[in-house]
Amino acid sequence: MPPEQSLPLPILTDRFNRHVDYVRLSVTDRCDFRCLYCMGEDVQFLPRAEILTLEELLTLGRAFVALGVRRIRITGGEPLVRRDLLWLLERLSALPGLDELTLTTNGSQLASMAGGLADAGVRRLNVSLDSLQAARFRDITRVGDLGRVMAGLRAAQAAGFARIRLNAVILKGRNEDEVIDLVNFARHEGFDLAFIEEMPLGQVHTHDRAASFYSSAQIRDDISRHHALTPVIDQTGGPARYFRMPDSAIRIGFISPHSHNFCEQCNRVRVTAQGRLLLCLGQEHSVDLRAVLRERPGDGEALRAAIVAAMARKPRGHDFDLARRPQILRFMSHTGG
Ligand code: SAM
Ligand code: SF4
Repeated sequence: MPPEQSLPLPILTDRFNRHVDYVRLSVTDRCDFRCLYCMGEDVQFLPRAEILTLEELLTLGRAFVALGVRRIRITGGEPLVRRDLLWLLERLSALPGLDELTLTTNGSQLASMAGGLADAGVRRLNVSLDSLQAARFRDITRVGDLGRVMAGLRAAQAAGFARIRLNAVILKGRNEDEVIDLVNFARHEGFDLAFIEEMPLGQVHTHDRAASFYSSAQIRDDISRHHALTPVIDQTGGPARYFRMPDSAIRIGFISPHSHNFCEQCNRVRVTAQGRLLLCLGQEHSVDLRAVLRERPGDGEALRAAIVAAMARKPRGHDFDLARRPQILRFMSHTGG
């Protein structure tokens, strides 16, 4: 090709020249846990009619892949409580052009579902795990049973999932003393492990998010006293910054929205269970794709046009500030984490 003829821009490109090739699809706002940083105890779930049907979710997945999306992550709420989820996953994973279908779960249903997920074409799993102590695990999740999650992790290993990643949110005064235990557990089991700084999504009454903030830098210091951490050269391009230890194959990641702004390389958008296309986790810019799906059923062109047009609304970055009242009123369970 002559040098003056540059390649056409990928279809989903925003005003800041960021190319969107990754979508997180939330399949439900419901959950069998009530993690205290994620939702209120008295959370009201959405009426069923407001939630996208499985067919609508598949139509959306098709539209995104036709527009160049290469990775879809299924999330929620807890995705494994969505009935007939495997029907959707089998069809999404078979879409020509999709490189990878992945899923984030709390692990509570994995013991019975891990094999089905692998057969349906899910390639990688993230499993949330904030504590290895049963009583504390119950406190943080309000209702969760650690034994079930552990059984789920074993089932996922037996189903052949490689590179399972644990996600842990560390809160000062709750579980910061478990950082090393979590690292050692991950090393022993061969899981990657990502530490996520708590984000001010939704108003919580159980704790003061600013007071319980435990930064990635503090966690790194804690780990460095036991294991040397070296940055991974070939980062994945996502928000996590990964490190390795000399005597282990696993990676330790840090997702640090407060201390490290990852927005410049942002390649992703989210769709809530109601079909709202969120252009940024930490801003309210969104487009109602459910309206397009329901007002113009079968009109793939209109749907794709709405998605392309939405790119112009993707903001430069989030605006998290723990010192202020939360500016984002939706909880993570509504956002699709
Ligand atoms: N239910 C699934 C799970 O827990 O893995 C998937 C959805 S959940 C919303 C996805 C991730 O978001 C979990 O790892 C959870 O710890 C994280 N999360 C929820 N609320 C958060 C918050 N306010 N700040 C940071 N991470 C949060
Ligand atoms: Fe449910 Fe996941 Fe939120 Fe916990 S973090 S309440 S498991 S959606």
